[in-house]
Amino acid sequence: MTLAHWLTIPELLRLPAQTYEWRVDTDFPDLETLTPVQGSVTVSHRHTYLEVSASVSTIVTLCCDRCLQHYNHRLVCTTTELIWLAATPGSQPQDDLVETLPATGRLDLADWLYQQLCLALPYPKYCDLNCGGIHPPAPAEPPIDHRWAVLAQLQSALERSEPSS
Ligand SMILES: [Zn+2]
Repeated sequence: MTLAHWLTIPELLRLPAQTYEWRVDTDFPDLETLTPVQGSVTVSHRHTYLEVSASVSTIVTLCCDRCLQHYNHRLVCTTTELIWLAATPGSQPQDDLVETLPATGRLDLADWLYQQLCLALPYPKYCDLNCGGIHPPAPAEPPIDHRWAVLAQLQSALERSEPSS
């Protein structure tokens, strides 16, 4: 079961100052964390858009890209996103890059927060800046190339024929 925390826009409009605050203290099924994600998500209705802010922190368990060991990383996520409200239900967003919601729609704050947390994850993930990584496997015996053997013979023959004085 995935986590969801729905907020509908008509609900939001009935709240004082058209602002909703979600006190976050939760675990996300798809995010491996040592401690619950704690903080707050605030949504304010600004007539033509929603202003959604997060201020949360947690300790995530990550896998190092270099040595593949698991390590703990303190993740702090403070962000604000504007979500435009479509003037009429079903109207197309002007710009695909801009988040748009129907004016009477609803927003899954848990899903929104999960996406923000994913964006805040470090990349690349190193357990330590000086992580030496895993020891590379011992190199296999180099394949024998007979042309090099011929060259080596030629070279030693030349060395032998060099004048000694
Ligand atoms: Zn490492």
